[in-house]
Amino acid sequence: MNPTTRPLPRRVQSIDSSPTVVFRELAQRRLSEGYEVFDLTIGEPDFDTPPHIVEAAYDALKAGFTHYVNSRGISELLDAIAAKLAQDNDLHYAPDKEILVTLGGKQAIFCAIMATVDQGDEVLVLDPAWVSYDPMVRLAGGIPVHVPLRPEDNFHITEAQLSAHLTSRTRMVILNSPNNPTGRVATREELEAVAAIAEKANLLVISDEIYEKLVYDDRQHISIATLPGMRDRTLVVNGFSKSYAMTGWRLGYVAGPVSLIGALLKVHQHSVTCTTSFIQKAAVAALKGPQDDMVHMVAEFKARRDLVVQGLNAIPGVKCSQIEGAFYAFPDVSAYGTGEEVGKILLRDGGVALVPGSAFGESCGNHLRLSFAASRETLERALGAMKAVLTGRK
Ligand code: PMP
Ligand code: GLU
Repeated sequence: MNPTTRPLPRRVQSIDSSPTVVFRELAQRRLSEGYEVFDLTIGEPDFDTPPHIVEAAYDALKAGFTHYVNSRGISELLDAIAAKLAQDNDLHYAPDKEILVTLGGKQAIFCAIMATVDQGDEVLVLDPAWVSYDPMVRLAGGIPVHVPLRPEDNFHITEAQLSAHLTSRTRMVILNSPNNPTGRVATREELEAVAAIAEKANLLVISDEIYEKLVYDDRQHISIATLPGMRDRTLVVNGFSKSYAMTGWRLGYVAGPVSLIGALLKVHQHSVTCTTSFIQKAAVAALKGPQDDMVHMVAEFKARRDLVVQGLNAIPGVKCSQIEGAFYAFPDVSAYGTGEEVGKILLRDGGVALVPGSAFGESCGNHLRLSFAASRETLERALGAMKAVLTGRK
């Protein structure tokens, strides 16, 4: 048999392409074919990386900072991350032992899962969930166990729901707050529910805090690692993509207890050696430099949030809850069909590209995800087109 026609390993057969990436490519293809497209698919800030961060990378390149660096991360950056975690999150980690700099939050989560999930281990994934948790667990040989949170409770996390999915093989729970795609920010009570289950069943927790800086109104981001007893069982993941508009730079990090970070470091070393050298210098500038660009971005996202929630709820039959954090709306469009059906119609007739809710879990078929990381003008026009298509005026 020709090696290219041989069946692929089961772990690869068990995963699909990333739907966020696929839907973005679909939108881009239509655009290149000459159609007008409002691309609200992928979660990527439309702002440029602040200039002082770009300058720092440029300076590092000019200075010849182009070699392999310490696998864990350059010490300047590890120190800056430790200081950030202490100041913003009241979390205290030794920079030389308990932090790892990675190629995006995504690689941090990948290393975390690869290093801790064994063949047949079950991992609780709270639906709606970001599209990559499930495939990463499968690639590690684990079994993703989906816990469907209820839209009618605004996707509230309860101990009973988690408890109902525990078995003797449950090893980990993945938590993401602020949440992609629901825009929920977990309350202390919800975090306590997760913590109680983690303690009871002796679970590890991956806490994906990548949207930490994007919280609105009086909401407050709390890291679950600050709850009593949780630091020792939690891997805190964060990154620069969303808070500093640095998606293409691929820069993130993970912090956790020394023995776990040591295991993640091995996976990191054998896959990428180290995170790109000069980009780490830019990250130091991001953390230590002026934060006004971030403040401006958050204020702009809040204004867009208001526009989107109001605009979606103004479409008869469409239901969109208040968005507490991140930059996604997750409306229920079931008055018009499934998310997939409605998404196809909106793209074909209105040029509005969204991601169907089913990408975020089987229980999310009534929904569509709209990323409002786009200009207000684009959002207004897209909302207008959605209303016209769905109410039959187009
Ligand atoms: N977690 C969530 C929930 C996300 O939406 C993303 C966005 N891709 C990531 C992690 C990873 O982001 P990045 O790799 O760009 O840091
Ligand atoms: N996190 C973003 C999203 O959900 C980027 C794409 C991805 O990495 O999945 O759209």
